[in-house]
Amino acid sequence: MTAVATRYETVIGLEVHCQLITKSKMFCSCSADYARADPNTHVCPVCLGMPGVLPVINEQAIEYIVMTGLALNCRIAEFSKFDRKNYPYPDLMKGYQISQYDLPVCSDGWLDIAPEGAGPRRVGITRVHMEEDTARLLHRTDAVTGEGYSLIDINRSGTPLMEIVSEPDMRTPAEARDYLVRLRQILRYIGVSEANMEDGNFRCDANVSLRPVGAEAFGTKVEVKNMNSFRAVHDAIAFEEVRQAGMLDRGERITQETRGWVDDTRETVSQRTKEHANDYRYFPEPDLPPLKLSRKYVGEIQARLPELPEARKLRFIGLGLSEHEADGLTEDRERAEYFEAVARAIGLDPSRSAKLAANWVLGEVGRWLNTAAKGIEQFPLLPEHLAGLVRLVDEGKVTSNIGKEVFEQMIATGKPASEIIENSGLAQISGEDELLGAVRAAIAANPKAVADFHAGKETAIKFLVGQVMRETRGRANAGVVTGLLEKELNV
Ligand code: ADP
Ligand code: ZN
Ligand code: MG
Repeated sequence: MTAVATRYETVIGLEVHCQLITKSKMFCSCSADYARADPNTHVCPVCLGMPGVLPVINEQAIEYIVMTGLALNCRIAEFSKFDRKNYPYPDLMKGYQISQYDLPVCSDGWLDIAPEGAGPRRVGITRVHMEEDTARLLHRTDAVTGEGYSLIDINRSGTPLMEIVSEPDMRTPAEARDYLVRLRQILRYIGVSEANMEDGNFRCDANVSLRPVGAEAFGTKVEVKNMNSFRAVHDAIAFEEVRQAGMLDRGERITQETRGWVDDTRETVSQRTKEHANDYRYFPEPDLPPLKLSRKYVGEIQARLPELPEARKLRFIGLGLSEHEADGLTEDRERAEYFEAVARAIGLDPSRSAKLAANWVLGEVGRWLNTAAKGIEQFPLLPEHLAGLVRLVDEGKVTSNIGKEVFEQMIATGKPASEIIENSGLAQISGEDELLGAVRAAIAANPKAVADFHAGKETAIKFLVGQVMRETRGRANAGVVTGLLEKELNV
C-alpha cells in the first residue's frame, strides 16, 4: 500500500471512445476508412456539414453498439434517440456533434475485472451511446516565418464513434488498466472495433478523485485526457493520486478541471476548467427519426454473439487447463480458435487433446510468433498439420526435441510432419535390437561412468543415456535406452 493509499481512497471512472469497423460513415455513405486515404477525399455534403442535407443512420453501427451493450451486460433501450451537442471548434464541421444525451442505446451494464495480484471487482457500465467523430486537425509550423497553423482533414468527420462510460467504481491505477485491457479484448472478440489505443481508435479519458479513507462522499474529480497507451493511463492516474493528495494535505481545494497527460514529462497539466453539461445546449436531433429496437432484433443479435473471453476461459479450465494456460489461449479470439482447431484435429479424448494442443500453441507456436512479431492469423501451419506433428510426438514416433526440429522444418518447407520424418530419418528408435549396439558401445567407451554407476552414483546413467543420444543424433527413445543400460550394467 502506498503512503497515499493509507490516507485517501482513489475513485476512478473511465470514458472510452471507440471507433467502429464499418464500411461507411455514421450518417452518410462516405467510406469510413479515414486513416489510409489522402486527406479530404472521403467527404460529401453531409459530413462536410453543408446546410440542407439529411443524415441517415448507419445500420451496421447500430448492430455493433447493440452487440457491445449485450457483451457488457447492458439493458438495450427499445426506444432511443439522437441529440445535438453544440460547441464551436474547427474540427466540428456542423458546429454540433450528433450524439445521444438522455436516451442512449445501452445502459446499466457491468464488466468484471481482476487485476493481477488483486481481488476481483465488478465495474458498472453507466451507458454506451452512439455518436460521430470529428475531423482531424494537424498542427504545423511554417518553415519560413515560424508561425503555427493548422490543417484540417475531414475524412474522419462523421465516422461512427461509440462512447462507453463507466461508473466511478475503480480504486487503483491497476484496476483502471485491467478494465481497459478487458474492454479492448471484448471489443475485438465481438469484432466491432480494432480498439487500438496507439492508433487512436480506442481513446480513454480518466476521471480521478480522492476521498479520505472511510468517507462516503466522492471528492471533486479531475478529468485527464491525451493518454495514448494503457501505461499512460495507469501512470496518469498514479500521478493524479499523488498530486491531489498533496493538495488535500495542504488544505487546498481540488478544482474540477480537464488536465492533459504529457508523455515526455510524465505529468498532467491543467488544460481548462470543466464546462458544464448544459453549456452544450443538447437538444433532440430533428433530422433523424428515433431509434426503435425491437426485442426480436436484439434477440437475433444476442444469438449471434460469439463466446466471450471470460466464458471461453472458464470452458478451457473445465477441460483441465490451468488458469494461466486458459488466459494465454483466450487472449485473442484468433489464438483461441486456432488452439481449439488443433485440439479437435488431435482427436484424442478432449482433455488430453486440449493439454497437448495447449503445450504446443503456448510453447513452440508462441515462441515462433514472438520471434516473428506476428499474430496467429499469420502463422503458416494449418491446425491439422500441427496436430499431425503433436500426435507423432505423443505416440513416440519422434522425441519431443526432434519434434521441435520437425516443427521448424514444417514451417520452412510447408511439408507435413510425417513426410519430413520419413525423408530425413528422424524417427525415434525404440527397438531394443536397434539400440543395443549403441548402448554397448557407450558402456565400452566410458569405463569411468560405469564405475560411478556401480559406486551408486545416480547421475552416471544419465550421462550414458546422453552418449547414446549423441550417437543416434537424438533419435533414441530415452526410456528404452535407460532400461537397456540398467540391464547391461547389472549383469
Ligand atoms: P460529467 O458531468 O462531468 O460528464 P459524469 O457524472 O457524467 O460527469 O461522469 C463522467 C465520468 O466521470 C464517469 O465515468 C463517472 O464514473 C466519472 N465520475 C463521476 N464522478 C466521479 C468522481 N467523483 N470521481 C471519479 N470519477 C467520477
Ligand atoms: Zn460523407
Ligand atoms: Mg457526462
